[in-house]
Amino acid sequence: MSNARAITRARIRETLAQWGVHHDILESRRLPIHAEARSLHFAGLGTDGRDKFLAPRAANAWAAMRDAALADGVELLLVSAFRSFDFQVQLIQAKLAKGRTIDEILTVNAAPGCSEHHSGRAVDIGSHDSSPLEQDFEQTPAFTWLCTHAARFGFWLSYPRGNAEGFLYEPWHWCWHPARRL
Ligand SMILES: [Zn+2]
Repeated sequence: MSNARAITRARIRETLAQWGVHHDILESRRLPIHAEARSLHFAGLGTDGRDKFLAPRAANAWAAMRDAALADGVELLLVSAFRSFDFQVQLIQAKLAKGRTIDEILTVNAAPGCSEHHSGRAVDIGSHDSSPLEQDFEQTPAFTWLCTHAARFGFWLSYPRGNAEGFLYEPWHWCWHPARRL
């Protein structure tokens, strides 16, 4: 991350402005700014076949949780982990190019600068029993296992139904919070 530019409110405003989005979305939806992780560790192979990375301690916690689940016969797949500010911009631009509206996109994807994935502490978890990043993940044994055990490893569901940030319910998105570890 040697060439990473700090994530500032000004940089987020500038990015949102190019999409015609007023920056008051940051305040009205109470979106926090997440700094990019400064160092990253390999966290495993993603379901897209690419290497995934997390902040060092989150990577350790993820590995311990994944192994514990596996020992219980539950496979946790890694769909997504660290994402940079620039990658978040590209992700949103790709959806705009497919004709989606920015308002629609921002209920699913965080504005660049506001994604927990920048922190290197958030993972999107998948299962062979559901489609990736779909709400039917909540019906899988993987989700049931996470609800019972994830907190022990410091992982918490970020966007439950009716979350204050106005994101859709994301049963697959879990974030590591060391201070909240049980
Ligand atoms: Zn996510």
